[in-house]
Amino acid sequence: MPKIVGIDLGTTNSLVAFVEAGQPVVITSAEGSELVPSIVGFSKSGERLVGDLAKRQAISNPERTTTIISIKRHMGTDFKAQIDDKVYTPQEISAMILQKMKADAEAFLGEAVEKAVITVPAYFNDSERQATKDAGTIAGLEVVRIINEPTAAAIAYGLDKQQELLKILVFDLGGGTFDVSVLEIGEGTYQVISTCGDMRLGGDDWDQRIMDYLVDEFKKQNSIDLRIDRVAMQRLKDAAEQAKKELSTETATTVNLPFLAADASGPKHLEMELTRARFEELTKDLVERLKGPFDKALADSGLRLGQIQKVILVGGCTRMPMVQAFAKKISGKEPTRDVDPDKVVSMGAAIQGGVLAGEVKDMVLLDVTSLSMGIETAGGVFTRIIERNSQIPISKQKVFTTAADGQTTVEVHVLQGERDLAAHNRSLGRFELKNIPPSPKGIPQIEVAFEIDANGILNVSARDRATNNKQKITIQSPTNLTPEEIDRMVKEAQTYQEEDAKLKVERQARTLADQEIESAEKLLREHGSRFATDKLQRVRDVIERLRAVLEALDEERTIEYTKVLKGLVYNLSSEMYAQPAEPEAAPMSGGAPPPGVSDSGDEEILSWFQK
Ligand code: AMP
Repeated sequence: MPKIVGIDLGTTNSLVAFVEAGQPVVITSAEGSELVPSIVGFSKSGERLVGDLAKRQAISNPERTTTIISIKRHMGTDFKAQIDDKVYTPQEISAMILQKMKADAEAFLGEAVEKAVITVPAYFNDSERQATKDAGTIAGLEVVRIINEPTAAAIAYGLDKQQELLKILVFDLGGGTFDVSVLEIGEGTYQVISTCGDMRLGGDDWDQRIMDYLVDEFKKQNSIDLRIDRVAMQRLKDAAEQAKKELSTETATTVNLPFLAADASGPKHLEMELTRARFEELTKDLVERLKGPFDKALADSGLRLGQIQKVILVGGCTRMPMVQAFAKKISGKEPTRDVDPDKVVSMGAAIQGGVLAGEVKDMVLLDVTSLSMGIETAGGVFTRIIERNSQIPISKQKVFTTAADGQTTVEVHVLQGERDLAAHNRSLGRFELKNIPPSPKGIPQIEVAFEIDANGILNVSARDRATNNKQKITIQSPTNLTPEEIDRMVKEAQTYQEEDAKLKVERQARTLADQEIESAEKLLREHGSRFATDKLQRVRDVIERLRAVLEALDEERTIEYTKVLKGLVYNLSSEMYAQPAEPEAAPMSGGAPPPGVSDSGDEEILSWFQK
C-alpha cells in the first residue's frame, strides 16, 4: 500500500513522518537529523541548499543575502524572494523544503512518496492553506489533506485514548510563533473549538535576549560593538540558541566563542557564564506575553478553566522550564508532554495520513472556521452563511432574490468577519451572476452556496434556479489574517454589537421602505384608474409620510408606515385580482421575504441582493 506521509511544514523546522505498524515514526534526514531547518539558501555557485546545509552556509557565509528563512510567514501573500537575478514566490520556496522532505522520506523508506498530509496553523486562512497545497503540488506531492497543527498534536496524543471525550488545550511555542488552541477529542473525533496566538513570539525572541546580553557584556569588557560584525553576530546567534537549549536541563551554562573579534591589542574571545536564573530574568516579559493568547483562546472556547481536562505542550520551546511552569500556573494543570514536542505535529499528520491510506481506522476529523463567512445584501448588510467556529468540511446555502424590477445581474460579494455591516468586514472576493431573465423584483430565486472543504478552502457559487445558470469562485484572498487580526475583528464585533445591530435594522428598514414606495407608485401609475379616489389618496398620503419619516431618520415610524403601505398595496392588488386577502406585512428583522416571493419551505431565509 503506498504510504501517505505527514509533513509538519514549520516556520523554523520541518519534519516528515509515516506510520509503521500503526505507530508514527519520524524520518531522519540525509544529514542525520529529524528536524530539518525550514531554510533555503543558494551557494556561491548557484547550487540550491535546503535545511541544515542552508543553515550552515548562513553561519559560515553571512555576507550572502541569499538565505531565506521563515517563508511560512509569507504564505498566501504576494511576497517575492529575490535570489540573484530570479524571484520566487513563497509557494516555490516552500516547495523546495517539501521536495527535500519528499526526497528524504523516499530515501528512508526505499519507495516513491507521492501523497502527503501537511499541517498548517489553525488560524491559516483560505489563501494561506491554498498556497500550502500549491507548494505541495509544485514539489510533486498530492496533498490529500491539510490539517491544523493543534489537531495533529491531539491526534498524536489521542490515538490510544479514544474512548473518552476530552477538552484539551494545546500550547504551542515554536521557533517563531505561539499558538493556543482548545480542542475536544475522543470517540474518534477531533474538533478545534477556538484558537488564538501571537505570530511574532517564539524561541528566536529568547535567543535574541541572550545575544543582546552577550553583546552588551562584551562591549562593557572590551569596548567593541559586535552588532556591526555580521560574522560575529551569526556565531553569537547560534551560540545563544545552544545556551537556551542547555538551560532547559542545566542551571548554568558557559558560552564560549574564541576569536570573536579583534582590536589593536589582539584577538578577543567571548567566555561568559549564563545561569538559568539570569536567563529567566532576561526573558520574564516574553513569558508574560504568553498569557494574552491563552486567556483569549479560553474565553473564545466558552469553557471555564476547570472544564479543560488536559494541557498539551507542543513546540521545542516548551522544553524551557520557565514555559512549562508558566503553562502550569495559568492553566492550573500539570501539562502533558509524553510525546516529543518537536515531533508531535508531524506524528499526528502521519497518523492522519495512515487513516486516509486505510492503515489506521476509525477516526473522523472535525476542524472549525475561525470567522463567519457570508455575503453583502441590500443596504450593505452582512448576511452570514457560515457561522464562526462551524465545523469543517461544511456546505451551506441560502436563497436570495433581486432588489429591483427587471434586474438581470446580481453581485455576490463574499466577506469574512463578525460585524453586521459588510463595510466593517473583510472582503474575500466578488463575482457577478448575469443573464437573469428580467422579472419583477423578488421573483428570481438565486441560490448561494458556501462550501468549505476539509482543507479549509472556500468555494462560493450562485445559481439561478429558473435557468440553472451558475457562477462560482474559489476564494484566493490577497491578504493575510493573523491571529491578532482575527482577535481584533471578534473584539470589535463585540464592542460594536449593539450599534451594528441597530444600524443593520435601520438599513434593512430603509431598503424595505424604498422598495415598498417603488411598488406602490408602480401600482398607482399602472392601475391607478381602477381604484376609488379615496383609496388612492390614502396610498399617496402614506407614501408621503413614509418619505418624511425616512428623511427624518425615524426608524420606528419607517417600519410602521412601511407596514401600513404594504397592507394598502396588498389590499389594492387583492381587490384588483379579487384574491383572498392576507395583508399582514412580513417582519423585517428576520430577513423575511420581500413581497411577491414565496418561501419554498426548505430554506431558512430569503433576502435580497444589493442593486
Ligand atoms: P519548533 O518550531 O517547534 O521546531 O521549535 C523550535 C524552537 O524550539 C527553536 O527556537 C529551538 O531553539 C527551540 N528548542 C528546541 N529544543 C529546545 C530546548 N531543549 N530548550 C529550549 N528551546 C528549545
